[in-house]
Amino acid sequence: GLMLGIETSCDDTGVAVVRPDGQVVAAAVASQVELHDRYGGVYPEMASRAHVDAILPTVRKVLTDADLRPADLTAIGVTRGPGLIGSLVVGTNSAVGLGDGWGLPVHGVNHLRGHLRSADLDERRVEYPAMVLLVSGGHTLLAHLAGPGEVELVGSTRDDSVGEAYDKVARMLGLPYPGGPAIDMLAKAGTADVAFPRPAKDLELDFSFSGLKSAVSRFLAANPDHPHADVAASFVDACLDVLVAKCRRALERYPSRCLVVVGGVAASPQVRAAAQQLCGEAGVSLCLPPLRWSTDNGAMIGLAAWDYLARGLDARPRPDTSLTIADW
Ligand code: ATP
Ligand code: FE
Repeated sequence: GLMLGIETSCDDTGVAVVRPDGQVVAAAVASQVELHDRYGGVYPEMASRAHVDAILPTVRKVLTDADLRPADLTAIGVTRGPGLIGSLVVGTNSAVGLGDGWGLPVHGVNHLRGHLRSADLDERRVEYPAMVLLVSGGHTLLAHLAGPGEVELVGSTRDDSVGEAYDKVARMLGLPYPGGPAIDMLAKAGTADVAFPRPAKDLELDFSFSGLKSAVSRFLAANPDHPHADVAASFVDACLDVLVAKCRRALERYPSRCLVVVGGVAASPQVRAAAQQLCGEAGVSLCLPPLRWSTDNGAMIGLAAWDYLARGLDARPRPDTSLTIADW
């Protein structure tokens, strides 16, 4: 079978055709980075309008690239939340319209389930039971997977996500949006010589990043001439310390054959290297999605949609911004 996956929860219009085993037949992402760079973050109203312009051309491009006609598809999976409401409305309405016109069922997919499934795109990697670290723009959480689709939330952030911290610190340092890749590059050229706090030591498996963000802001105000590369390196170091400590603790508490690291921040080479080292020490394997599937894309939504179809779940393609990772 062939699933058309559509993702429009934030600022990327992602479309892909995916097989049930995670093979991606074709994929395209229309990025809005240039549009939002001017504002230093995503401007929701502009994001929805850009999705309106991009969605049908992107669907057409993917089908043309794969030499497919609508009749070749089994179903459509579309992100129904969480995310920006205006962006979700464009994706779900477009998918419903296409499904209606083409006579295909449309499944509303939880975006966070999509990130989870990104680790099995191109090839199967996840072995169960598994521990998942999801580090994205809007979420930072740990979840235990007893088996495929059996998700238990075991830790989450009390305030900011790590991606948000990257983006805000990038802004303080005058770097372009999105902040993650820019901070990574700058940090590589610096030395971690500032002892920023390692927040949330006592929060069991929960995270907190707003204190770290404020500490960077205070430091920059007091030390405007300190090399920015060193500030970036120190900030990344503090983030990695916290992420690794929580993952180590989670692997000790819950039986796990592998650690799965997904979400946009999983594209960071420093995060990947730190996770690799932790897994070596803990004796578990590391499952990472290929770089192109770490940030938002249609392929992860298409693969997750197969799970809904297999379970006979009737998740309607209606926007729902309140979904958690445990929801379908
Ligand atoms: P959510 O999935 O929680 O709704 P989102 O979809 O906006 O949020 P993603 O696309 O998964 O988030 O990730 C975006 C985040 O990833 C941004 O904060 C961005 O700065 C960060 N990011 C992207 N690439 C990198 C990188 N190479 N290193 C670090 N962070 C990165
Ligand atoms: Fe996302």
